[in-house]
Amino acid sequence: MVKDCCSQELFEIAQQLMVGGVNSPVRSFKYVGGNPIYIKSGKGPYIISVEGRKFIDYVLGWGTFIFGHCDEEIKEAIKNQLENGIHFGACHPLEIEFAYLVKEAFKNIDKIRIVNSGTEAVMVALRLAKAFTGKKKIIKFAGNYHGHFDQLLIKSGSGVATFLSENSFVSIPQAGVPEEFTKDTIVIEYNDESALEKAFEQYKNEIAAVIVEPIAGNMGVVLPKNGFLKKLREITQYYQSVLIFDEVITGFRFEFGGLSNQYNPDITILGKIVGGGLPIGVVAGKKEIMDLLAPVGEVYQGGTFSANPLTLAAATTTLKKLKKSNYHYLEELSQILTEGIVTIKNKYNKKLKINKYGSMISIFFTDKEVENYQDTQNIDKLMFQKFFKFLLEKGIYLPPSPFEALFISFSHTTKEINYTIDVIEEFFIN
Ligand SMILES: *Cc1c(COP(=O)(O)O)cnc(C)c1O
Repeated sequence: MVKDCCSQELFEIAQQLMVGGVNSPVRSFKYVGGNPIYIKSGKGPYIISVEGRKFIDYVLGWGTFIFGHCDEEIKEAIKNQLENGIHFGACHPLEIEFAYLVKEAFKNIDKIRIVNSGTEAVMVALRLAKAFTGKKKIIKFAGNYHGHFDQLLIKSGSGVATFLSENSFVSIPQAGVPEEFTKDTIVIEYNDESALEKAFEQYKNEIAAVIVEPIAGNMGVVLPKNGFLKKLREITQYYQSVLIFDEVITGFRFEFGGLSNQYNPDITILGKIVGGGLPIGVVAGKKEIMDLLAPVGEVYQGGTFSANPLTLAAATTTLKKLKKSNYHYLEELSQILTEGIVTIKNKYNKKLKINKYGSMISIFFTDKEVENYQDTQNIDKLMFQKFFKFLLEKGIYLPPSPFEALFISFSHTTKEINYTIDVIEEFFIN
């Protein structure tokens, strides 16, 4: 049997049993080099490795744990549900409570369907958009990630950017994705309004949907330029295409709700945070589109574990807690961290660019602005590798790729943030 020994030994064994030793590629530390750390436990803003080393966690289950690890109330809710049954594959009251909370948080949402992952939710959203419009083509933005769904698995940020293209655009299509699967996908540079207009002019009545991460978080954090999201709403309305906001990261991260409240997309996708730490995806949107889903309509979607009670116990507790939470706290901590880093950067005259939106942060080692996917390809890989390793050594766990966002949770305090700033200064002195 495998004993808790050390991460290195575990990873060697894991590589013989699982592909690359992992079950999701970015966990492998391939970009930064070295072996991944095996985590034994997590509490609040900290994770503990099998060796007993403690790290401040800025990954937080890839943005899932907005209350930090092992939140007492969420844990309690899961325990209670555990006593009453894990899974029925039948209706249960928690799904209603969850749907109420989501509806309350979003003005653009009439109805929802709960699935098991963000990827699944995106699949359903595209199917709905095609059925609703009777059109086929989908516009996506380079560097935006919407799960590992064939049609969108091109120029899709983080994992793909890290592993398949070192310095250039990913080849289209990806291995294992036949060309037919992506021939109706149009990829446009994020923030490029004129390319968007051109695409619509060329394919006028063929575009079923535009899908976007309203704040891009999977090529590192990249902010939409002023007017870009508004433009998406206007142009999709004009050409009668469906606008899909993929808020798997951004939903409930900056407020009780998301950017959808401001821009009124037809479909909003949720995931990560809303599951309270258990697997979830949510397709939500306007009634006339959502009602095309079976059993009301003809668009099929099913799921053995969809809306399982254990997930929904964590999910409803999370949303109820978020409703009472003061998001300014996250903003304050993020400000302290980013301002701290900028001060150091100026003091030591380093090439570094911080992109930040609320509690979602990227540190790019470049001296140019990072406004789209192309820009993310100019970063200094070696510098990031050194930075990552230095911080890890000092007990700070960053995403092992510059194309993944750092997240801050309600469980972080100025203590962890100030320590992080001190360590970063130490890194730059050397
Ligand atoms: C993580 C993510 C997904 C995929 O969600 P999974 O639950 O991993 O399938 C989709 N879109 C965005 C924006 C994400 O960050």
